[in-house]
Amino acid sequence: MAEYEWDAEGNEFIDELLKKILPDFLQKVESVLAEAFRFAPYFISFNDFTRFIMQELEQKVRLSPKHKEMLYSEFRRIYEKTQKETVGDTPLRIDFNMADERTINYALSLTDFYLGKFFQGDKKLRLDVVKWLSKYYLEQGNPIGKGQEGIKHFLNEFGGYLKRRTEGKVRQIIDTSVNHLRNSARLRAIAKARITKYRWDAVGDRLTCPYCRAMDGRVFDTGEAIRTLELIESDPASLPEVKPFLTRFPLDKLKSLPSSQMPSKMPPIHPHCRCRIVSFIEEIEEPYPVVVETAVPPRSLEETAILQELTTELKALRPEEITARIKAHLGSDWRRNPDGTFDAKASRLKAEFEKHAKDLNVQSLKEYEQLSYEVIRKPEHVFIQRVFNPQTKKYETNYIFVKNGVYVISNDESLAIQTVGRLKEEIESLLSKLSGSSLSATVKLF
Ligand SMILES: [Zn+2]
Repeated sequence: MAEYEWDAEGNEFIDELLKKILPDFLQKVESVLAEAFRFAPYFISFNDFTRFIMQELEQKVRLSPKHKEMLYSEFRRIYEKTQKETVGDTPLRIDFNMADERTINYALSLTDFYLGKFFQGDKKLRLDVVKWLSKYYLEQGNPIGKGQEGIKHFLNEFGGYLKRRTEGKVRQIIDTSVNHLRNSARLRAIAKARITKYRWDAVGDRLTCPYCRAMDGRVFDTGEAIRTLELIESDPASLPEVKPFLTRFPLDKLKSLPSSQMPSKMPPIHPHCRCRIVSFIEEIEEPYPVVVETAVPPRSLEETAILQELTTELKALRPEEITARIKAHLGSDWRRNPDGTFDAKASRLKAEFEKHAKDLNVQSLKEYEQLSYEVIRKPEHVFIQRVFNPQTKKYETNYIFVKNGVYVISNDESLAIQTVGRLKEEIESLLSKLSGSSLSATVKLF
């Protein structure tokens, strides 16, 4: 299993749309290259020749009116399906209205903006293509001077590069637009259901992305988000200001910001983001009795600083948000490694089972694995420990769950279960032992 299968959310929509759009784009690239081959003999300078090619690409590789129409009906289908899923099996009726129509049209214009201008609109893509061309010239010389064969060779190489870039770019644009479309659909459905708050849900997202993890579990105001959405829809130029990609900001800063001050309150927050929003109902979702207090006294000034950072991050979150972060560990997995890679052989699970099975009195791997989720599901106590890993030279944050004398350690950045063991001493001394001589900070959540 590859890592991307963790975030399969919505992939079926994107794959379907790509199948319908991509061949047309690739064919247009192909026809520009054929045109270039035909006109090459009229050029002497490579510079003029490539300028001609770029111009052709900019003019011809774009979304056709036929495909734009197709996109509208596909977007509408995806939108309505997503709204139905959002209200689930509640008896709520959510009628399609003018606001929904506007939202779909906006998502469509977003797609058209990027796909429509393609080689012209994306400065980075354009620059990359020009760089590729000049590199070719520097390494291989002017293909025009080498006659038909030289031009053929050049166009072959260039075509291969161009098609890879086109495919990647079209996928990214569709992906981002569909994520925006679906989250807008969810938001409007939540508003129609008169649910005043929604929660960010990153579980199933590419778990190596620390930005999505930092947003996971946060709770936002539905009305405010609707106002932002309507602002963007009526004035698309406001998008970068009112709903920027969060990856533009320093992660540490975002982590310690209260949700109400987040620069963006709705996914996607970067290309290929798989986050979604779900309705949040306070009366049903009782928060844990969160306290946030020091569990192991700091041993140095550095440790005091780490403790302060960790505490500041937690204090920015409301109890229901911390509760959601704790509950996210139910999605933690034994086969995922802290660096985000996937361990299909479950070697950590097997190794830890060997070490702890006897103490825990469990007979099988399955039983051992189940025990970890039992503890995470209904913990008596939860601690957070941030430890400096001398091997990776990075800080790792672990959640430690305790129940009936059993503890579970789950890595928070990658949602990877590390171990389950029997508690044979006071929890405080286990916590001190876990960090060893590394720099660390430990707080008790409840
Ligand atoms: Zn995300």
